[in-house]
Amino acid sequence: MRLVFILIGPPGSGKGTQADMLCEKFGFVSYSTGAIFRNEMARGTAIGQRITPLMDKGLFVPDDIVMEAVIGRIQKTRRNVILDGFPRTLVQAKLLERFFQLAPGRFLPVAIEIGLPMREVYRRVSGRMSCDKCGKVYHVKFRPPRLTQRCDKCRRPLKFRSDATRAVVKTRIKVYQKETWPIVKFFRQRPIFKFFSVKGAQSIAAVSASIIKIVKKIT
Ligand code: ADP
Ligand code: ADP
Ligand code: ZN
Repeated sequence: MRLVFILIGPPGSGKGTQADMLCEKFGFVSYSTGAIFRNEMARGTAIGQRITPLMDKGLFVPDDIVMEAVIGRIQKTRRNVILDGFPRTLVQAKLLERFFQLAPGRFLPVAIEIGLPMREVYRRVSGRMSCDKCGKVYHVKFRPPRLTQRCDKCRRPLKFRSDATRAVVKTRIKVYQKETWPIVKFFRQRPIFKFFSVKGAQSIAAVSASIIKIVKKIT
């Protein structure tokens, strides 16, 4: 059976950081819907143009576009998967459950909630920088690059994200509480998903250790 880890948590909770760690340590493949959509925007594709006004405001991409982006990728790979930033609405969660139900015995979905108090979200998101070339994520204070504002691996200048302004972050927190928060309860209740919760307000290494424990328990 293939493992499908679902990382769920507010903006800045560490989903991307921990997904990278799991890929390096266990050889999983990770799909970040945020990264997929930012790439569509940067390339100016039809989908990119449609979602730009939504993403820039901190609003969600429509469910049909999101499902299309994720399900095909899960089907194509034969590796264990990490979903970073999906599902984010109850509709997406139910469609994902349906997908697993239609392929009995093939997937073992494991949801891991990374909790973070909302007052921490802004500090995390506003200091976040990443490398355009390799995607590696840094933080001005919590995970600084070795050279000021340059990627450790590629030496390229790091960029802040355009959806990190105070107003947009405020919207993203609201949207998270309204749309995504209910999924945590859904995962807890549905027998098909194994469910775990870790505390996100600790060091990156400590969060990693908690998640590694869960992975080892399952595999
Ligand atoms: P963060 O890392 O701060 O949690 P992401 O990079 O995961 O943010 O997502 C950035 C933006 O991409 C979201 O604000 C939203 O507009 C869009 N997005 C990403 N995943 C989804 C999804 N599953 N459903 C709807 N919109 C999404
Ligand atoms: P998400 O994908 O959930 O939005 P990220 O992994 O992108 O979160 O992390 C958000 C920002 O916070 C990044 O700049 C990252 O370097 C930093 N960060 C991640 N985890 C921690 C942590 N446990 N403590 C402090 N900073 C963290
Ligand atoms: Zn890089």
